[in-house]
Amino acid sequence: MNEKDIYLCAINNIQSGTCSEDCAFCTQAVRHKASISRYDTKTTEQIVAQALTAKANKAVGYCLVSSKATLDDTMLEFLCQTATQIKSVVDINLIACNGMANLSQLKQLKKHGFDSYNHNIETAQNFYPKVCTTHSWSERYDTCQRVKLAGLKLCSGGIFGLGESHKDRVDMVSSLKELCPDSCAINFYHPNEALSIKSNNMSKDEAYDMIRYIKNELTDTKKIMIAGGREYMFGDSQYELFDHGANSIVIGDYLTTSGEEVSKEIRSLESLGYNIKRSCD
Ligand code: SF4
Repeated sequence: MNEKDIYLCAINNIQSGTCSEDCAFCTQAVRHKASISRYDTKTTEQIVAQALTAKANKAVGYCLVSSKATLDDTMLEFLCQTATQIKSVVDINLIACNGMANLSQLKQLKKHGFDSYNHNIETAQNFYPKVCTTHSWSERYDTCQRVKLAGLKLCSGGIFGLGESHKDRVDMVSSLKELCPDSCAINFYHPNEALSIKSNNMSKDEAYDMIRYIKNELTDTKKIMIAGGREYMFGDSQYELFDHGANSIVIGDYLTTSGEEVSKEIRSLESLGYNIKRSCD
C-alpha cells in the first residue's frame, strides 16, 4: 500500500439521542439532556439515498448507527431489509453499529448484506466503570468476539480523553490487540456542557503518539481510522495524523457533532497528494 493511500468512511446516525444508558461521554444518552437533534429511526429511503451520497463522496465505508445499547429484533429486521436495498443500488462496505448483539443477530446482518460491525470497547476494562454503570465492559468485548464468529469484519476502537491514565490507554490497546479488528476506530472526547466530563485530558502530541502506538501494536489491522473529535483535537494541523500511522478518516458529520464540509475536505486531501482509495481492499 502506498503511504499516501487513504480510506474515507461515512456514518449515518439513523436514530439519534434515544439511549437509556449512562455513558458519561455520550450526548445520545437521554438522561444527560444534551442539546442535540433527537429522532427515531430514519426511513429506508432516506438511508439508501444517503448511501448513494456517501459513495459519490468517495467513501468506501457506510456505517448505520443507532442509539441503543443493545440491538433489538425490531431494529434487526429494519437493518436487514435496509441493507438489502442499499446493496441493490450501491457497492459499498456496509457497516452496522447497533450496540451489543448476539451471534444469531450478527449472522442475520451478515446474511442480509452487512460486511462489517462496529462496536467499540471505548476504554480500558478497569476504567470503564468510571464512565458507565449501566452495562459492563465485558459485554462490549464479548460482542466484538461474536462479530468475528459471525463472519463479519470487526471495526473496534475507543475514545480518548475521558480522564483515563496512560496505563488505561495502553491496556485498552492491549485488549484491541487481542480482538485484532480489521479496522480500528479512534475517537477523541469532544466536551459538551451537558456532560459531566468537563475537558479532554489528552494533548495533541499525546494523541499523535497514541496513533503511532496503535499502528505499531495492531500489526494486522488494515485501517487505523480517526473518527469523532478529529477537528476538535487536531484543529488546522489535522492531516498530520496520516504521518503518524492513521490511514482512514470519517468524512462529513459525526453522530451529534458537525464535521468538515465534504467537498472542501476532499479538495484539501487531494491538494496534499493523498490518494483516496475507491475500494475497501
Ligand atoms: S450505549 Fe452507546 S449510545 Fe448509549 S449512551 Fe452509551 S455510548 Fe451512547
